[in-house]
Amino acid sequence: MLGRSSAIAVSTLALLVATAGGAAARSCDEGAVSSSPASTVAVAAAVGDRSPGAAQRSQPQQRRFWVSDRNYYRSDWYAGKHRKMIAYGCTRAPYYAPDPRCQKGRGFHHGIDIAMPCGTRLFAGLRGTVVRPTSPGALGSAYGADAFRLRNSRMQKDFVIGHVRKVFVQPGDRVARGTLIARASDAGAPDGCHLHFEVRPAAQGYQAAVAPTDDIGLRRVG
Ligand SMILES: [Zn+2]
Repeated sequence: MLGRSSAIAVSTLALLVATAGGAAARSCDEGAVSSSPASTVAVAAAVGDRSPGAAQRSQPQQRRFWVSDRNYYRSDWYAGKHRKMIAYGCTRAPYYAPDPRCQKGRGFHHGIDIAMPCGTRLFAGLRGTVVRPTSPGALGSAYGADAFRLRNSRMQKDFVIGHVRKVFVQPGDRVARGTLIARASDAGAPDGCHLHFEVRPAAQGYQAAVAPTDDIGLRRVG
């Protein structure tokens, strides 16, 4: 039977686990939401809730770069030059459920994250129509409540613009290349303001996402 102090410790642990689980659910794409590794988080928290890992999870706004690439890049999709934060594909970032495509229990990131100051201007890098939010391939809350998709009908691709708060376009709008469409934020993001850019075949879900390399068109600068 647990004594009073043990009971308090257990309830604290439960709170930590709930908090950590929430952080996982807020990560960049639905992959993290559908199968959040709550048991893994619970084990990690039980091992020592004062470990550096636990401290990182309890500071959801802390920005972390999960790539070794320290170069800065420009793109037609955003203003300024910025660094990659999480690449497309298997990642060391802890927000994602283990994925069978990845080694060492790592998760799969369905887009690319570019770290940038909150409020950075985001542009349409290609022409497209703003997709109605509830149509097939609808985005979950992990992308932030105001995230949206831009569809290029010629390419038959949807471009997901994640973690925005200010949006300057509406569903159904036809948007020309170069149009200001939104500003970057940390809405729904556990790790600070960034653009989550994801490319999918039109009207498909995150599982169908493809490498965004060509479409984001990063240009390395000094
Ligand atoms: Zn992301």
